[in-house]
Amino acid sequence: MKPAVPRRARPALEALVLGAITVGVVGLEPRALLAGALVATVFFVIRLRRMRELDRVRDGVATAAGGTRPEEWRGLSPETEPVFHALHRFADLVAREREGSEKARVLARTVFEEVPVGLVVVDRSLAVLDVNPAARLLFGVPPDAACPALHDVVRDPQVLGLFRSLIGAGRAGDETPLPLIVKVEGREGGERLLEVAARAVPGAHVDGEPAAIGVARDVTERERTERMRRQFVADVSHELRTPLATIRAAAEALTGEESLDEGAARLAAILERQAGQMQDLVSDLTDLSQIESGAVTLQLEDVPLQGILAGVAKDLEGAARAKSVEVALEAGSGLAVRGDRRRLAQVFRNLVDNAVKFSPGGARVDIVARARRGPAGGEILVDVIDRGIGIPASEQAKVFQRFYRVDPSRSKTTPGTGLGLAIVKHLLILHGGSIRVESEPLRGSRFTVSLPAAAAADLALKEAS
Ligand code: ADP
Repeated sequence: MKPAVPRRARPALEALVLGAITVGVVGLEPRALLAGALVATVFFVIRLRRMRELDRVRDGVATAAGGTRPEEWRGLSPETEPVFHALHRFADLVAREREGSEKARVLARTVFEEVPVGLVVVDRSLAVLDVNPAARLLFGVPPDAACPALHDVVRDPQVLGLFRSLIGAGRAGDETPLPLIVKVEGREGGERLLEVAARAVPGAHVDGEPAAIGVARDVTERERTERMRRQFVADVSHELRTPLATIRAAAEALTGEESLDEGAARLAAILERQAGQMQDLVSDLTDLSQIESGAVTLQLEDVPLQGILAGVAKDLEGAARAKSVEVALEAGSGLAVRGDRRRLAQVFRNLVDNAVKFSPGGARVDIVARARRGPAGGEILVDVIDRGIGIPASEQAKVFQRFYRVDPSRSKTTPGTGLGLAIVKHLLILHGGSIRVESEPLRGSRFTVSLPAAAAADLALKEAS
């Protein structure tokens, strides 16, 4: 709205009013009139000067905000001078910030363009906001081709689904879904394998703002080598099975021989024990390579957990009794998971076997199962707790790697292949579950398995919550 009195005319009007008041107070004599005019003039000059300074300050702020020092101006009042000094500092700061963000922008752009990893930035409607040359190369999109939508870059329905679910779920940046391995037709013909991961950008609520970033890398060589390694292990372990079984049978026969002298009997016993351990190793290796290569298909059903865990405890009764270890089970009869009965028993047998194996004589091992509402629906947690030698913090993640044993010098006294936990981890991944460990040396370990609850149990959980 327009002010009733124009801003520039305000000092004159105010001076007039002040002059009139002075005249009114002193009287209408000529001297009083002169005094009134003088007061009005002085006031007018001061106000005009203030307004000019304010105008300069306002212009100065606008100039400084653009990163330029406002022009020096002579005759500034002592109050306004420090304001101009501050504006100079402000202008320098803005200029430095601008230069810094320009450098960061150039750096980010160079990395985006040159990095040998494919990057695609999309908004929430999967419109492509940016795609780097490496992504074009990996997905076979010509350098100058327009690709307004994600499906112009990637046609694989799994990848498109990954982005859709990521954006649809509005996930936070740290809840990243697992990367996908997809096949694409290479530029020079021939199939390539790409690993594609996607990460959500939080807070993208409008079209045109980055909502997700896709990262693609060529893993053809890595996967080929990995496949060869798995095939080699599978072949070798397969070839070793028959001769090992024969050696073990012969060693057993030899151990039973009564005519052997003491020395020969001792050697026969060693032969039998070592042949047994090699058989275990070969059997674990075969198992692991089959699970890793996807050759194992799970027979999924709703499995009541109590029965499985009780069966495992019974299987290991002999080993536990030999060490006077008590295995206590606490699992409600209603708990059920979605899984493969035989493979689940294998998982828990491995964990309880380790718990007994690494416990001191007379200790207690607890198996505790409970249900919980997880982010992806009902979840069953099973803890296997021992009070044994424990695992140092630095080793805890490594125990799930193949052949890793915390203390290899123990291998003579504690039987094992170092493959058990690797098998457990892979079997749980196949089930859509996971495993973690908490442990303290000399105090014990707690391995916690998480598995999706069976559909019925999930329903019960929903009703309970
Ligand atoms: P292994 O056949 O040697 O038991 P695993 O893969 O089952 O192979 O375990 C790997 C290593 O992790 C073991 O050698 C041991 O060092 C450590 N470990 C596993 N479970 C426990 C446990 N309950 N307590 C202490 N250490 C354990």
